[in-house]
Amino acid sequence: MKVVFDERARAHDPKFFLVNGAVTPCPEVPARVDRLIEGVSFGSHHMVNPEDCGLAPVAAVHSPEYLRFLATASERWARTGGGAEAVPNVHPVHKEGMAEAGYPLSVTGQLGAHTYDTSAPIMAETWDSALASAATAVHATDLVLDGAKAAYALCRPPGHHASADMMGGFCYLNNSAIAAQRLRGRHDRVAILDVDVHHGNGTQHIFYGRADVLTVSLHADPARFYPFFWGYAAERGAGEGLGRNLNIPLPRGTGDEEYLQALDGAIERIAHFAPGALVVALGLDAHESDPFKGLAITTEGFARIAKRIAAIGLATVLVQEGGYLSDDLARNIASFLDGFEAG
Ligand SMILES: [Zn+2]
Repeated sequence: MKVVFDERARAHDPKFFLVNGAVTPCPEVPARVDRLIEGVSFGSHHMVNPEDCGLAPVAAVHSPEYLRFLATASERWARTGGGAEAVPNVHPVHKEGMAEAGYPLSVTGQLGAHTYDTSAPIMAETWDSALASAATAVHATDLVLDGAKAAYALCRPPGHHASADMMGGFCYLNNSAIAAQRLRGRHDRVAILDVDVHHGNGTQHIFYGRADVLTVSLHADPARFYPFFWGYAAERGAGEGLGRNLNIPLPRGTGDEEYLQALDGAIERIAHFAPGALVVALGLDAHESDPFKGLAITTEGFARIAKRIAAIGLATVLVQEGGYLSDDLARNIASFLDGFEAG
């Protein structure tokens, strides 16, 4: 399989991560890339660099004001004399009786407007890395549009928590959504299957009102797990998109057998939708040794999951999402890619 990777993915290296009131080291580190490349090297895959895709495929998903903000935020933040990384401290809320929130001129205000948590700090290199990550997804998509059965986009930073104009959860540009939107240029219907341990709230939000993109996510139950406010089974889409969003929340610690059973339901839904192509939002953080400890998939379990996804028989773009440092991360991507090719 062709593996798309851009070295600029490593430059974004934020230190700030606020969890339970404590600033701790950010787990979304460049070293993740080394483990994933090590895992790729276990198989007979070919690494390729993405071509520069320009802003058009990104702007097909994200709002102009959000992209303008991301491109200029670091420089503007530095002029405020703020900390090394831009982290929000004030957010607009929309509640009954309050006027619609305005769009401020201040970088601090815009940062609050475009974030829903403190887990997407912006540093000088963030925009370049996020754009390279998006270009990686676009290039993998083009390989599939050119006839490849599948391609793997080794994206960093990840993307599935980013909506059209909001970042959060280590995500800035939604690479999986960008891939799906690009596939829509060729196919009337496209499905996204998100197997990251966290609900893909950004992806869901982007396509929530649309009938042409089915979004399916299996994840740890948000009642006690990030992103907390989205990912419930009752979220089924709205308007024309009603019935085109499927959330399958799973109990904490769910293992291979129960997961595969739930996956069968997801695959059945995708088959019924009859899409022309598939995007897999490929988080590996559902593994039993991932530091987030949401689910308990084994390394062999990833091969079984991948095999079933491949058996759907659709042209597939695999987009790297989460999956954090553990001794098993390299073997987990190797297992998934092997399983996919065997399917
Ligand atoms: Zn995740």
